[in-house]
Amino acid sequence: MSKFLVLALVASATAFAAKAPANLPKSFSNGSAKAVFVDFKTANYNVVYDGAAKSATVVATIEFESFENGNPVFDLVSNPTSVVLDNEEVSAPSVKTPSNETTVRVVSKEVAKGNHTLVVTAPITALVSFSGSSVKSAFWTSDLDERNFLERYMPSSFEYDTVKMKLKIEFKNINSASQKIYTNGVVKGSGDKIEITYPEYYNCSSIFFHTTPADAVNEISFTYKSKDGRDLPVVIYVAKSAWGSTNLTRFKTKTIATLDELEADYGPFPHPSVTILNAGSGGMEYQGATMTDYGALDHELIHSYFARGVMPANGNSGWMDEAIASWRDNRYPSYTSMNGSSRMSSHAYCTRTTDTDAYTFGARFMAYLDGKFAAQGGLKKYLRHMVEQKLFQPLSIDEYINEMSDVYGVSVKEDFKRFTYGNSAAKMSVKAGSKVHRKMSLKELQNYL
Ligand SMILES: [Zn+2]
Repeated sequence: MSKFLVLALVASATAFAAKAPANLPKSFSNGSAKAVFVDFKTANYNVVYDGAAKSATVVATIEFESFENGNPVFDLVSNPTSVVLDNEEVSAPSVKTPSNETTVRVVSKEVAKGNHTLVVTAPITALVSFSGSSVKSAFWTSDLDERNFLERYMPSSFEYDTVKMKLKIEFKNINSASQKIYTNGVVKGSGDKIEITYPEYYNCSSIFFHTTPADAVNEISFTYKSKDGRDLPVVIYVAKSAWGSTNLTRFKTKTIATLDELEADYGPFPHPSVTILNAGSGGMEYQGATMTDYGALDHELIHSYFARGVMPANGNSGWMDEAIASWRDNRYPSYTSMNGSSRMSSHAYCTRTTDTDAYTFGARFMAYLDGKFAAQGGLKKYLRHMVEQKLFQPLSIDEYINEMSDVYGVSVKEDFKRFTYGNSAAKMSVKAGSKVHRKMSLKELQNYL
């Protein structure tokens, strides 16, 4: 064989070889079985809202790849009515992960290494409300409690896993002409049948989805001229029932000023559109979208760069973006020394929540790193590097650390170890949140539908 033919064969073999997501968690023993985390390739969600039955149901068809023989892991908070793996009816009971850090579902049947199909049917019970011939429904998320990402509504993978997702909506016995849809995907169709396609780099914390009757909201829309020449469509909306006075023009002014600032610091906005729901107290971020109050708006928008642009792969790296955003909220201070410690990076591997030390201690740590590298362009140099090089690839804390060491030409491992890997005395800090991200119960969120 010629040298070139060998090279061509190696290249094509590599192209088709299974490549596991970079931060796929290790498999674990579940009784006599082995629970294996997998790679969702595509997830097609068919959702039916039935106004007569007052029910919402999802049928999720998931194509996934397993990298070893074992029982596949996914998650869904509500109990599925049917789970079918490779055309065989199975079950998927809830199981605690080895360190008790979270709960997942493990399919009762073992699969061989390779590609498989999972079809899960389940009711959508959270944040759905029927009234007359209309429906209000949203897939709002939180990282302050576990199992509050997409799995709260639909069968889902985890933050390490980016998935090509499609959402097909059918409105039955609903006045579909009056339903508005706000989402950070591409919407096709109208009337009873809507299809929304999301970018393939989305994961379980990416999707913003909200449908509500048009006469229940006020909105303004405009275009924002990105520094790279794109005209970004922006929509800002609020429920008419929202408490107090809401001034969307004030939101628009702050949105433009914040995007100007962020584009100047970190480059073109990383998403094709901006969706802003003015609701609640504090906020929550999505890819190019947020549900937020006026005070947290700028904090949530920087999360479109850090959190939903440069993405965490799990709870142990999720604190980084809160620390970065809070450092910006504090107007980028620079410190030359640092005391104390935290355990933000060293929780059990499958931890899904963010350690709330991120907002305070984490922000101080960013200021310390900025001071340490002041002569080399400060921490913003690293942040710009991350946006340029690492968008949309869920990252572990080790990857954040290695990139920083590369950017400044000196290892920052010891700094992270001392200040974020703590000692056994330092416990996970889980407060009610911060002024920018407050824990809201489903009952509270229901008020904003
Ligand atoms: Zn935040």
